[in-house]
Amino acid sequence: MLEITFLGTGTSSGVPMIGCECEVCKSSDPKDNRLRSSIIINYKNKKILIDAGTDFRQQLLREKINSLDAILITHEHRDHTGGLDDVRALNYITKKGIDIYCEERVAKSLRNEYSYAFGEHRYPGAPKMDIHIIDNSKFYIDDIEITPVRGYHLNLPVLGYKIANLAYITDMNYIPQDQLNKIEDMSVLIINSVRKQRHPSHFCLEEAISIAKKTNARMCYLTHLSHQIGLHSQLEKSLPQGINVAYDGLKIRID
Ligand SMILES: [Zn+2]
Ligand SMILES: [Zn+2]
Ligand SMILES: [Zn+2]
Repeated sequence: MLEITFLGTGTSSGVPMIGCECEVCKSSDPKDNRLRSSIIINYKNKKILIDAGTDFRQQLLREKINSLDAILITHEHRDHTGGLDDVRALNYITKKGIDIYCEERVAKSLRNEYSYAFGEHRYPGAPKMDIHIIDNSKFYIDDIEITPVRGYHLNLPVLGYKIANLAYITDMNYIPQDQLNKIEDMSVLIINSVRKQRHPSHFCLEEAISIAKKTNARMCYLTHLSHQIGLHSQLEKSLPQGINVAYDGLKIRID
């Protein structure tokens, strides 16, 4: 059994967006409050997090998570990496570093962003991140096979991840056909859908739905949503069978 918890389902600014007075940002429905996008996967007695954005601390507190076996990073944008300083709390509990899996380019960005946590002048008490460099090839965390999926975020190469019958795709607006082939027939496809109108660096609603159909996903959950996507309750009603809107705190199981 694989269990997924959505820690956050919002776009880079989160929802509500600072200073916005729109009906989504002012909504009293908790499903319209979206922290920065991240999921945690519970599988084979391991807890694997995908992305650790700006709301990481708040998300771990909310879900009462006090240990992680690995963090997979999709790309270097701060809404996916900006919370990593808070792995200090996990370092303290487990007395060891946290294993982080990312591409070389992303690792370089982390070493710059968190310069105090790396190198010979590492600051005492700084977060301890053990970086494992991956590329677009299969890798293992113990007996869990993870298949990266290459896509593009405007021109920036990003990695999605396939674990068992789950595929997690975020911050992409293009996936080449050979990569789409990797995520055919998933039980659950999670995919970014920032808004209804087309967007230069993210899939819009129609594009996300078309990928779910093309890859024959049994269930699809939309994430990385902005306030422009509309109210959760209205969006949910308007979607075709098998397409769902994720929300913060949602848990799903794949047997
Ligand atoms: Zn993002
Ligand atoms: Zn708004
Ligand atoms: Zn991004």
